[in-house]
Amino acid sequence: MGKLWLVGAGPGAVDLITVRGRELLSRADAVLYAGSLVSAQHLAFVPPGCEIADSSGMTLNEMLQWLGERLGRLGTVVRLQTGDPSLYGALTELTTPLRNQGVDVEVIPGVSSAMAAAAAAVESLTLPEVTQTVILTRTEGRTPVPEGERLRDLAAHGATLCIFLSATLLHKVTEELLQAGWSENQPVLVVHKASWPNEERIVRGRLADIAAMCQEAGISNQAMIITGPALQAAQGESPPMSRLYADNFSHQFRKSGLPMPDKKIT
Ligand code: SAH
Repeated sequence: MGKLWLVGAGPGAVDLITVRGRELLSRADAVLYAGSLVSAQHLAFVPPGCEIADSSGMTLNEMLQWLGERLGRLGTVVRLQTGDPSLYGALTELTTPLRNQGVDVEVIPGVSSAMAAAAAAVESLTLPEVTQTVILTRTEGRTPVPEGERLRDLAAHGATLCIFLSATLLHKVTEELLQAGWSENQPVLVVHKASWPNEERIVRGRLADIAAMCQEAGISNQAMIITGPALQAAQGESPPMSRLYADNFSHQFRKSGLPMPDKKIT
């Protein structure tokens, strides 16, 4: 029986897959890729004869059937999915039935779109003394969110919010955050198709105007919404500094006031 590899393709740009992920593609016997969000350019790296299908029009059962059939007669079967497989990737639905049939499964992590969006905008999601926490979430749409996880509940933490799957509900996102007491002036970053060559778009606004700005820009899908006090503080003239690199802060690899030893800080 073959082995199933769930490979994170990264956020879009074809060279943001990991080296391990690319290596897997180069020896795959079959690849089921999420064509709605994964670049077809990845398929240029599979060997001749590799069986390929796009899962974007398939139901879960059809995907399971396609994978199961290949796992029965081939060695390396890859499910190529967007960003990191552990986030909103239907990982458990796919792996549980196959593992129950004795299939060996391994996951290769990927660069999530939350990270790619922060990178595109040169933003830090954590900032000393402002927030040390990042919440990866979505707003409630057709998919309900569990009790206590509505944006207005999460907003109370004052952490950075990376909001997936919610670009069409941006007005709802902003309403909920305003209701939670966040200021109309709270900066909001929206990155559409982060890292996709020639397609990435960055929109910066505030809770008061970001929904209208994105509507005007025609952004309604494949967008990451990032907001929180770290964005606000980073705009100040002297954002809070990390203690790790402060002159007066000693740690395992550096004594304060002394020159840096040869060892690298990791
Ligand atoms: N596993 C993926 C998320 C899949 S859910 C990850 O780790 O990124 C799909 C949602 O991810 C989209 O609705 C959008 O919010 C976000 N997304 C995926 N690719 C994106 C990209 N290149 N730029 C911005 N957002 C993206």
